Amino acid sequence: MSSQAFHCPFLLSADGWRKDVVMTVSSAGFIERIVNRTDENAPTLPGIVIPGMPNVHSHAHQRIIAGLTGRRGRDEDSFWSWRELMYHAVGLLTPTDLELLATWLYLELVEGGYTSVGEFHYPHRLADCEPIATSRALMAAAGKAGCGLTLLPVWYRYAGFGRQAPEVEQQPFILGRQAFVELIQTLAEQVASDDLLHLGMAPHSLRAIDVADLAGLAADLPEGPIHVHIAEQKAEVEACLAATGKRPVELLADHVELDERWCLIHATHASDRDIIRIARSGAVVGLCPTTEADLGDGIFPADRLLEAGGRLAIGSDSNLMTTAAAELQMLEWTQRLSRHQRNVLVGKGGGHIGRTLWVQAAAGGAQALAQPVGELSPGRRADFVVLAGDHPLLRGLTPDQQLDALVTMARPDFLDEVYVAGQRRVCGAVHHLRAELSEPFAELRARLAGHGV
Ligand SMILES: [Zn+2]
Repeated sequence: MSSQAFHCPFLLSADGWRKDVVMTVSSAGFIERIVNRTDENAPTLPGIVIPGMPNVHSHAHQRIIAGLTGRRGRDEDSFWSWRELMYHAVGLLTPTDLELLATWLYLELVEGGYTSVGEFHYPHRLADCEPIATSRALMAAAGKAGCGLTLLPVWYRYAGFGRQAPEVEQQPFILGRQAFVELIQTLAEQVASDDLLHLGMAPHSLRAIDVADLAGLAADLPEGPIHVHIAEQKAEVEACLAATGKRPVELLADHVELDERWCLIHATHASDRDIIRIARSGAVVGLCPTTEADLGDGIFPADRLLEAGGRLAIGSDSNLMTTAAAELQMLEWTQRLSRHQRNVLVGKGGGHIGRTLWVQAAAGGAQALAQPVGELSPGRRADFVVLAGDHPLLRGLTPDQQLDALVTMARPDFLDEVYVAGQRRVCGAVHHLRAELSEPFAELRARLAGHGV
């Protein structure tokens, strides 16, 4: 493929909106230059152009139960009862099923404006397969859907603090230290030849590993980002305090060099002191606001993180919702509900909520996934989203008004085209594989739903 040029009526650059520019993309899919329009032959994109959004936290297999957990029994319903159902679904999947459902999920995520995904992958053994098989299934899925993937194989060892033995349902997740290191090393060779693939790792949570093992592991595997579920549930924080005398963020920061390599997923119950510590470290906080709301986790004080100069990113997590705007909308709305104010995350300097949140989450997400994305500038990969400029709700608005509308209304049909590495994957709000995969995916979901999922 040769290089391409796109005329952008408006493009969101690192320095703000640029009007009437031409973006040139190399044959390898990277932005070469963005210049004022002189090339009248470059085709005009159908709306304003913004960076593709990195999705820092996905569990692809959980898409299969999306929307199916709305029935409450007589007991209290919580994260823990939801988890039982999810474990049941894991027991029914094969690696082939995982590849199909992940391909379907990733195409939906691309339609939702996500152009790269961090897959926090812990069901290593499905139907007793070798752990490498499920990782390969996820890489194949990303290749078909045409999105960036940072695969984050999970190190999972225990059921709870104090090295509690794993439950039967957790056996497919369990890897010993040597097996985990070998898995990472094998995968490192496989991702090396593909620009869209990157590799990190993910100690599942401080309850599922021994924190004393982490510094050694990070030193043995010095490349790539490290993600961890940190403080999602109040019960988890209380168990951590009871077992160690410390809150999870404090415990982690006392055992490892917390820095730009780290992404702390669901720092929901971080204390004010924790937040200052995270902000100073350069680590990214990965928030999944729609899943956190669905599971009744709690509200992360994102305003305090941003005031302290911290970095945040978003993820789709359980994949109940698959549009980036829905996460940003929920992130801002939860702050409004708890602070009784509006446009909270814009900060005291003022500005537009749409642009503020999109730019922050794209930059934080790029760091957390170690993908060369998150900003439209030369040298970055040409991952971008084009809004539907002729949509009746967008036509005639300024670029900032359109981005505000995208984030506060969260309508999927506001996204017209999505490109990854300069390749158009979505046109007219529809991914090119949607029609072909609808039937096989529907059959898989119906089959699993028939087994009590
Ligand atoms: Zn998670």
